[in-house]
Amino acid sequence: MRIGLFPQFCPSYKTMNKLRELLQSNETILLDGAMGTMLMDAGLEQGAPPESWNLLYPERVQNVHAQYIEAGTRLIVTNSFGGTRFRLKLHKMEDRVVEVNRAAAQIGRAAADAVADTVIVAGSMGPTGELFVPMGEMTVEDAEAAFAEQAKGLAEGGVDVLWIETMSDLKEVKAAVAGARSVTDLPIAASMTFDTHGHTMMGVSPTEALEELSQLGLTALGANCGNGPAEIKAVIDTMHTLSPDTILIAKANAGIPKWEGDELTYDGTPDVMGLYTDQVRGLGAQLIGGCCGSTPDHIRAMRLVLDGADPVVEVMPETAVTEPKAKRQRKRRRRR
Ligand SMILES: [Zn+2]
Repeated sequence: MRIGLFPQFCPSYKTMNKLRELLQSNETILLDGAMGTMLMDAGLEQGAPPESWNLLYPERVQNVHAQYIEAGTRLIVTNSFGGTRFRLKLHKMEDRVVEVNRAAAQIGRAAADAVADTVIVAGSMGPTGELFVPMGEMTVEDAEAAFAEQAKGLAEGGVDVLWIETMSDLKEVKAAVAGARSVTDLPIAASMTFDTHGHTMMGVSPTEALEELSQLGLTALGANCGNGPAEIKAVIDTMHTLSPDTILIAKANAGIPKWEGDELTYDGTPDVMGLYTDQVRGLGAQLIGGCCGSTPDHIRAMRLVLDGADPVVEVMPETAVTEPKAKRQRKRRRRR
C-alpha cells in the first residue's frame, strides 16, 4: 500500500480523520435536532415526502442545516431518512433514489462547508417501513440492495459518515450495514428506538442491541427518538455500564410526544433538553442531539450546557429532588 500517496487519492480520508479527531478528543459532539418538523414550518405539506425537497427546494433544506449549525451543532444529519426505494415508492419516486440521496448529501455538505468550524455531515438512513419474511414480504437481499442504493447516493454526495437511525429490527440494521459496506468504506453509526417498554418495537433490549451492534465494526451506536429524555438516559446508562469504551449516541425527542387533534406535539422545553444533555453526558454519551420536536432553540440550550453553563435543574422534578435546595436556587440564579 502506498501510504504516502493515499490521502490525495481517497476523498474520504480527510473527513474520516475529522470525525475521528473529534471523537478521539473526547469532546462531546452536539448533533442537530428534527428535520421534518422544520421543513413543515417552511411549507412542506403533511404527508409529502421531506426527501422530495432535496430536489425541489434545496435552499430550504440547507437553511434548516444552517440554523442548527448556527445554534452550535457539530454534526448534521441529512434529509434522507425516508430515502430508500421502499419509502420513496409510496410517492412514486423509487427510480430516483440515488439522485435524491446524492442531493441530500450535497446540501448537507454545502451547509457544513459554509462555516469555518468542523461540521460533520452524516447521511441519514431510516427504516424501510417493511417487515422481513415471513411476517412481511421483504427479503434480506431486498433490504441490502435498497440500503446499498441509498448509501451510494449519500457517498457520492459527500457525507462523512452513514447514519442508520430509528431502527427497531436488528436484522434491518445488519442489512443496512451490509448494503452500505457493499458500496462504500465510509464509517457507519447506528441507533435504535427503544420506545416500547424499554425495548424496540421488535422487542430488542438495549443490552441485546449493544451486544449485536458491537459486532458490526460501527464508529458509534446508541439510541434515538422514542419517548423523551428519560427513556434514552436509561438506554445510555445500560450500554455505557456494559461497554464503557463504546462511543454512544443519544438523540432524544424533545419530551414526550402527545396528540393534539391530528398533530403530534412535544412537551420538552429547551431547558429540559439542556438538562438532559448534562445528564446523558454524565452517563457516558459522546454524541448528543435532539430528535422529533427539537428545534434550533433546543440545540442552542444544549450548546450552552456543553459549553459550561449550569443546566436549569427544576425542569424535571424527579431529578431536582435529589439536589439540595440552596444549590438549586443558586444554579437557577446564575443561569437566569
Ligand atoms: Zn424522532
